[in-house]
Amino acid sequence: MSRPTQVSLNLQALRDNVAVARDLAGAARVMAVVKADAYGHGAVTIAAALSPLVDALAVACLEEALVLRAAGVEAPILLLEGVFAEDELAQVAAHSLWLTVANLEQLAWLEQATLSTPVPCWLKVDTGMNRLGIRVADAVNCYGRLERCSNAADRPVLYTHFACADNPGNTASAEQLELFNAVPCNAPRSAANSAALLCLPASRYDWVRPGYMLYGNSPLADPDDNVQSLQPVMTFTSRVIALREVAAGRSVGYGATFVARRPTLIATIAAGYGDGYPRQAPNGTPVLVNGQRATLAGRVSMDMLTVDVTGLEGIEIGSAVTLWGDGLPVDEVARYAGTVGYELLTRLPSRPPRVVTAP
Ligand SMILES: *Cc1c(COP(=O)(O)O)cnc(C)c1O
Repeated sequence: MSRPTQVSLNLQALRDNVAVARDLAGAARVMAVVKADAYGHGAVTIAAALSPLVDALAVACLEEALVLRAAGVEAPILLLEGVFAEDELAQVAAHSLWLTVANLEQLAWLEQATLSTPVPCWLKVDTGMNRLGIRVADAVNCYGRLERCSNAADRPVLYTHFACADNPGNTASAEQLELFNAVPCNAPRSAANSAALLCLPASRYDWVRPGYMLYGNSPLADPDDNVQSLQPVMTFTSRVIALREVAAGRSVGYGATFVARRPTLIATIAAGYGDGYPRQAPNGTPVLVNGQRATLAGRVSMDMLTVDVTGLEGIEIGSAVTLWGDGLPVDEVARYAGTVGYELLTRLPSRPPRVVTAP
């Protein structure tokens, strides 16, 4: 038997989550975002499962798209950051990728290039995120240049990205939509990420671009807004490899950050920050042991972590452990660790093997 730490992937959950997204999207087409190795799930596995179900995929950059093309993924793939230099454009055309144009330099590169075939383009407009995209004031002019550019395929899409869609109560998204709607281009449009798709029907337009929700997690900041219809695709599991009684007053782990207040049963689990579990997770962070909620006790180490299982039923060496996923949302663990589930998922190292449990 090998080290019992793995990342299980439930592809049926993925397909069910796509169905939820499709339902919300109505007539809009669905572009599934698989950047950052499909949010840490494994881009090739996820893209292959998604390709028959969605209208297009999206990644951050050419390198990520080429991995998918090399694995035989034939769906359209949008590069969300476009290219970083003019010489990448030949590959964009050769591999039938879709191109974001997000600034005047990228537009000029496209206009100057000699390409084997015209490239479908998405013109990104900055409506308030102030991170990427051309200015609203330049949108009409840039869109016109794209329409006249022989390297750009017909009917470029106009798109924008929300800064605060994860917080449906605020007014920022409505202000961004107002600016976006005021751009006088007769273009197909796209605005919605997962949070907007879930909470902001006015943002659906012609294409929606969900990522996080497809993996079964809630993109919304407020934990009370959890989205019941989604199921986690990833479950991060391990097992108990040691058990000991720790007397009251004794500490557990590096730095002695947990001190037992009563006789305490400590289970040691074969996963640590070297497997992608956050070292920042404090005492009290929930962990499922043998299906029951237990709490982290002591600092997370590289290969192991320790959990207070005092009073739980049937705990023994070999007991199953869920660090997040089915029964324990990654965002709940992330809140304890002071971050978001997006970060925990995308920074998972390759050390825990990805295993497809529900094909
Ligand atoms: C990452 C990304 C998305 C998907 O966001 P989620 O919150 O994961 O749904 C959509 N659009 C753009 C431009 C992105 O960068």
